[in-house]
Amino acid sequence: MVHNGLTGEQQGLSSQEAAARLKRYGPNALPAEPPQPTWRRFLRQFKSPLIYILLFALALDLFFWVRESSDGFPFEAVAIGLILLLNAGLGVWQERKAEAALARLKQLAAPQVWVWRDGEWKEHPAHELVPGDLVRLEAGGRIPADGLAILAEGCLVDESMLSGESLPVEKNQGDELFSGTLLVRGRALLEVTRTGRESALGKLATLLGQIEAEKTPLERRLEVFGNRVARWVLLLAAVLVVAGVLVEGPSRIGEVLVFAVALAVAAVPEGLPAVLTFTLALGVERMAKRKAVVRKLSAVEALGSVTVIATDKTGTLTENQMHVRHLDSPEPERALRAMVLANDAEVNSSGDEEVGDPLEVALLRYAQTQGQDPWALRAACPRISSHPFDSAWKYMRVTVEEEGKPISYFKGAPEVLLPKTRLEREEQGIWLEKALAYASEGYRVLGLAWAEGEREEGLEFAGLVLFWDPPRPEVPEAIRKAQEAGIRVLMVTGDHPATALAIARQIGIPSERVLTGEDLQNYDPQALEASLREVNVFARVHPEQKLRLVEVLQAQGEIVAMTGDGVNDAPALKRSDVGVAMGQRGSDVSREVADLVLLDDNFATIVAAIEEGRSIYENIQKFIRFLFSTNLSEVLVVAVGALLAFLLDLHDVSGGLLLPLTAVQILWINLVTDSFPALSLAFDRNPGVMQRPPRPPSSPLMDKPSLRFVFSSGTIKALLALGLLGLVPGLKFGLVDAVPALAETARSVVFHFLAIAQLFFVYPARHTQLHPLPNPILHAAVLLGILIQILVGSIPAVASALGAVLLPLPLWGLILGVSLLAWGFAELVNRISWR
Ligand code: ADP
Ligand code: MG
Repeated sequence: MVHNGLTGEQQGLSSQEAAARLKRYGPNALPAEPPQPTWRRFLRQFKSPLIYILLFALALDLFFWVRESSDGFPFEAVAIGLILLLNAGLGVWQERKAEAALARLKQLAAPQVWVWRDGEWKEHPAHELVPGDLVRLEAGGRIPADGLAILAEGCLVDESMLSGESLPVEKNQGDELFSGTLLVRGRALLEVTRTGRESALGKLATLLGQIEAEKTPLERRLEVFGNRVARWVLLLAAVLVVAGVLVEGPSRIGEVLVFAVALAVAAVPEGLPAVLTFTLALGVERMAKRKAVVRKLSAVEALGSVTVIATDKTGTLTENQMHVRHLDSPEPERALRAMVLANDAEVNSSGDEEVGDPLEVALLRYAQTQGQDPWALRAACPRISSHPFDSAWKYMRVTVEEEGKPISYFKGAPEVLLPKTRLEREEQGIWLEKALAYASEGYRVLGLAWAEGEREEGLEFAGLVLFWDPPRPEVPEAIRKAQEAGIRVLMVTGDHPATALAIARQIGIPSERVLTGEDLQNYDPQALEASLREVNVFARVHPEQKLRLVEVLQAQGEIVAMTGDGVNDAPALKRSDVGVAMGQRGSDVSREVADLVLLDDNFATIVAAIEEGRSIYENIQKFIRFLFSTNLSEVLVVAVGALLAFLLDLHDVSGGLLLPLTAVQILWINLVTDSFPALSLAFDRNPGVMQRPPRPPSSPLMDKPSLRFVFSSGTIKALLALGLLGLVPGLKFGLVDAVPALAETARSVVFHFLAIAQLFFVYPARHTQLHPLPNPILHAAVLLGILIQILVGSIPAVASALGAVLLPLPLWGLILGVSLLAWGFAELVNRISWR
């Protein structure tokens, strides 16, 4: 193993010893927050205006039951109670599932560290660290445990989370480093002294890298919407009660109240919140399977609206499998030394373990093939000082002691290094021309230099190194797919403009012009806006300039997904609508602020995530259409039916006003039979989502065609139900002739019809211009719903609990027939709505 800075005394630990210590000291993790007790969670499910309405209904039912001297069994009250419990139970279950999914995601995104174990660098999850471990720290990394810096080069540490001090502090060899603080710049070796609860962070007990489960804009919108529905419903109910009492007199207030409750229950989509949680959780898991880990649920929606992807080149569009293709050098011997010494990577002699920046690894490998022994060279030339690499200055210096004299070695972007050399302007120009020519062929070009002493100007130029970093094979297809989906792809790179252009052309990013980071900074707003409309390639961009780019794009109304891997990319990632970080190559900081982490660092994964995001939104719209068409038909049936009963003076067995549906029946439909198909819509696959433009974020949840569909299909179904209500008492199936009994029968028919017909409505509700793939789970859910409904209607005890009477077979036939008819109408309405 070629390594910098480790001496014989600092052996690190063996894996056996580490395992033993792990047992003794416990994991390097903060004590998990105790989960909320189940009863608390359970109670929380009742905190919703929609549920308050139901609780109110329950109280009312009990009140009447008591007033009527507790006669018989309070079926309705018990049924409402059971349904409330069922709903809360389902809510708890959903929440658990969603949390478990997030916990799994958190594990996927957990930080990894390089640890010296058994005399080798190995990558381990940070929670496996124990006191005594040696850890390699790089710029952008969170310090995983407390310890001593046994080596520190150009280290700047941001300790603001411990001290509140916002300026980074310098750290030198022997200084103490604290867990949770951030290595902003430089490189260090940490000897771990305290882990987990004992560490600085453990004492603060702040959780880092936690995945936020905050409500998404959509959930908030639905919540607001739900509250508004609840308010209107209550208002409507109150008006009805007052009107009813005025017309009928106070003696019949009970009936009026029951009616008001039924109407309120009918208007509210009780199943919606649970279905939404489920759909989001399922979608997030599906994204994780495609290697896109969502850190903020709100990203799911934003992903569906993305109009621009601004992506890194190196490692995201390309393989980051760097290979040195050529060294163009006036003094190859010096150049090779610069490659090995101005280099922080580590490779062992067999070449199967490598740590560090792929570019630096490639340099070491190349030097090895050219007969250098990096290990021996580094041992012979110990480091004195260094100026670490940063994309802001694009070069690095390492000063070593070579044969008793200090010698500085440099590598960096040619146009940054050349002006620091002693070369004449003309000669510099020749090298720059060369670099440009190489870059135009798609090579990544790096300059090398050296100087006697510890200084940064008057250098000797040591040549150009050419790297070949091929585009990832799946990228051109992904770019085509994004373009087809109306999404612009911008390349934003720190690399040379010519290299950027060459690669952009290879992968199908339209590119006549290239803007540099300097242009981004210097152009006035108008010029910048104009250029941004046509330029897709941005080169030599500093991280701060990325921020400007995002801001200008957003000002143009674009929804921006931006990738980033460095420490300084954090502001741009935060600012963008979807910040995308890299799971393998990125810094911890970039991952912490990102909305999305790509486990495979691959551009194609962003496109896959967008596809999933759009698909999830599509499915959400489907069940919203589906559930609201139910609510509308119920409200119409209850309101019109009650009006008719009032006008015709129809009463049920107990003498009350004959309502076409009871509150319990409505709840049953909304919460039980409807929920199967609504949940299974989450499994719908929508292959067409990437063939249309992005959805504007301001677009309403229900667009015009959806509203048309909900209104017409809901109305048709209500009309059919009311028709049945009028028709059934006239039919003779050996029914008892008494009017109340006939009315009860008609009411049961309407109940079963509404439930079963709605199950079929899930099919037109999921068809827009898009045609989802066949969904077997959906078919099963519909079938299950029908079976349950028939079963419930045929078991005497259950049927009467739901306020239904047993029906003769021909009526079941009628129900099914009319349900199929309703389905046919709904399909027709669907065709017209989306024409
Ligand atoms: P990107 O990775 O998008 O190409 P960076 O900001 O990482 O952009 O790099 C900018 C430039 O800095 C590169 O084109 C290269 O010339 C130089 N560079 C990159 N990595 C190193 C490094 N480890 N040491 C010295 N110079 C580097
Ligand atoms: Mg880079």
